[in-house]
Amino acid sequence: MDELRLKLAVQKSGRLTDPSLDMLGRCGLKLSRGKDQLMGFGENMPLDVLFVRDDDIPDLVQEDVCDLGLVGLNVLEEKRLELRERGHAARFQQIRTLDFGRCRLSLAVPEGVTFEGASSIRGKRIATTYPYLLQKYLRERDISADIVTLSGAVEIAPRLGRADMICDLVSTGSTLQANHLREVETVMESHAVIIRTPLALPPEKDEWVERLMMRIDGVQQVKESKYIMLHAPRSALPEIRRLLPGSESPTIIPLEGFPDKVAIHAVCRENVFWETLESLKKAGASALLVLPVEKMLA
Ligand code: ATP
Ligand code: ZN
Repeated sequence: MDELRLKLAVQKSGRLTDPSLDMLGRCGLKLSRGKDQLMGFGENMPLDVLFVRDDDIPDLVQEDVCDLGLVGLNVLEEKRLELRERGHAARFQQIRTLDFGRCRLSLAVPEGVTFEGASSIRGKRIATTYPYLLQKYLRERDISADIVTLSGAVEIAPRLGRADMICDLVSTGSTLQANHLREVETVMESHAVIIRTPLALPPEKDEWVERLMMRIDGVQQVKESKYIMLHAPRSALPEIRRLLPGSESPTIIPLEGFPDKVAIHAVCRENVFWETLESLKKAGASALLVLPVEKMLA
């Protein structure tokens, strides 16, 4: 393997796979192999992607097999606590927070079971695949309970009589609902993150890490951003500037033949809704046009 190519670990198949590959694609990366293979080779960047189980990603970075990893904060923090418990220090550094993979690690009880906080947890059996995060939560609240560590299918543990409640990942809550469980407390909020090795990399690689991070920032910024163009009477300028959502300094252009009117162009760093356009129109704006922003580099 080429030592000067960056190696990035990404989940092989799961909830993070598509959004991760979508983000890398928006960063301009072209991968030459399908995701069912173990490796994807960057055709236009010195970066290769290793497709693995998400649970292995912190270890791959920890052990310097990969320079970078893209993983859920939940998996990362669980690993950090596990390492600490074993007397090791985590060697991965979190360098970016990503805007996908949002979920929460929550406690849930079977429907019909009353829940009154700590007293309802004390002495109970809690099934989870995140024993260290759960243990931390319980310790911080001085609650002693029985942690039942499972490798999967946590949501059916209460029905099988293996546990009284569960501690599992939730996003919409539909899985809980389907299993007749009720979410009662949040243990941790999570989202995807990028981690890197703390090792000093050769300058060529370091430069690509920087470039990739800058592109990721750009990709995340433009997701919600819009470019808005409109015509307005000069007198309406203050009101219109107030109405433009999340824009810093709009460009104001005179309109040939209309001394009292201007064209306004602005980047809005949030979505522009119909309601905003209607308010702008009421304030005197006309010829309104909203365009998606494809790339941005500050
Ligand atoms: P693998 O085979 O890679 O071990 P997995 O079954 O552990 O896969 P997924 O269910 O694909 O993992 O979830 C991967 C990550 O996606 C989670 O660790 C979490 O960070 C995030 N995630 C977002 N929403 C949810 C959700 N509703 N349930 C589970 N994970 C979620
Ligand atoms: Zn996993």
